[in-house]
Amino acid sequence: MKPPKKKEKCKNCEGKGLVKLGDKKVKCQRCGGTGNKPGPATPSH
Ligand SMILES: [Zn+2]
Repeated sequence: MKPPKKKEKCKNCEGKGLVKLGDKKVKCQRCGGTGNKPGPATPSH
């Protein structure tokens, strides 16, 4: 059985993959710059 694929935006960057840091934008650390909400089975180091 496959779970329904739901594309969820990363709330940290709102799906942009970038977050504002001061006056510049940096890659969102939460989603890794993809803009998508990281899945539950995210491999962590
Ligand atoms: Zn993000």
